[in-house]
Amino acid sequence: MSGVSGEGGDYDVAVIGYGPTGVTAANLLGAMGLRVVVLERDAEIYTRARAISTDEEVMRI
Ligand SMILES: Cc1cc2nc3c(=O)[nH]c(=O)nc-3n(C[C@H](O)[C@H](O)[C@H](O)COP(=O)(O)OP(=O)(O)OC[C@H]3O[C@@H](n4cnc5c(N)ncnc54)[C@H](O)[C@@H]3O)c2cc1C
Repeated sequence: MSGVSGEGGDYDVAVIGYGPTGVTAANLLGAMGLRVVVLERDAEIYTRARAISTDEEVMRI
């Protein structure tokens, strides 16, 4: 498997973007035992709603 190298070490996967999709992917891949690095361009926490609706699909995730 090819990997990703960075200042913090070597990783199996780089996830670009720490929105709800990136958060979910990073957590699932980490739970599978893969070394994951997430690169997010925004330095600050996003202060508006992202993925906080409560339909059955969101609750499943
Ligand atoms: C006006 C508006 C209102 C909304 N209101 C709601 C709401 O009330 N409730 C709700 O649940 N959902 C709401 N949504 C929908 C919600 O924002 C999206 O469904 C959700 O953010 C999608 O998540 P995502 O992780 O796919 O993408 P995003 O949330 O867009 O995350 C992508 C991330 O990648 C980062 N990124 C992009 N390019 C790069 C790059 N080149 N390098 C590094 N980082 C990068 C971005 O900074 C961002 O943090 C709203 C959307 C809009 C547009």
